[in-house]
Amino acid sequence: MEQFKKEFFHSINFLRMENLIFATNNQHKVNEVRAVLGNKFNILPLKEAGIYIDIPEPYDTLEENAAEKSKTIFKLTGKNCFSEDTGLEVEALNGEPGVKSARYAGENRSFDANIDKLLKNLREAGNYTARFRTVISLILDGQEYYFEGICNGRIISEKKGNNGFGYDPVFIPDGSNLTFAEMDMEEKNKYSHRKKAMEKLISFLTR
Ligand code: IMP
Repeated sequence: MEQFKKEFFHSINFLRMENLIFATNNQHKVNEVRAVLGNKFNILPLKEAGIYIDIPEPYDTLEENAAEKSKTIFKLTGKNCFSEDTGLEVEALNGEPGVKSARYAGENRSFDANIDKLLKNLREAGNYTARFRTVISLILDGQEYYFEGICNGRIISEKKGNNGFGYDPVFIPDGSNLTFAEMDMEEKNKYSHRKKAMEKLISFLTR
């Protein structure tokens, strides 16, 4: 009976989670998250959920911005959903660009311009220690939960590799000699901040 109950509630949980909206329009993030989840959950990024909006990230912390995105989608749909916000935190720059990673070089959001600004500032600082930090905000049955994932590493002074997005060409995670942009997704996911946060989310959802 106990085993039956366990399997029954597991199935209910699975059905309830079947369509979990991921409040993002970033296809790179969707691909990475889907690679982590396999077929455990059916992730619906905004467009696939029929939601055509770009949610602003107006706050000074990853937590608040992640919450803004998931709460916006929950208000619109009433459905279980999650969002994530990620920042590159550089030691010598007191945690910058951090929450401003997407628009470090200004509102035009070019990855190359952001990297150029970062490398210029780092040449002056001389310390290349950095980390990526991801915060996931999940809204499940109206309750909010947070999950964090951190990937420690360092910035290099020249771009290497063509995969991934954002700061991937200049970030080498601890334990590797390759930048994220030189790795395929499977390799990046061995180290990735987003993967670590997703694993916490999955173990919460399948608890
Ligand atoms: P967002 O606000 O979470 O969409 O991400 C902010 C910015 O951080 C992105 O525009 C990217 O420049 C950068 N970023 C986020 N995640 C990653 C990653 O996994 N690798 C490289 N850069 C990333």
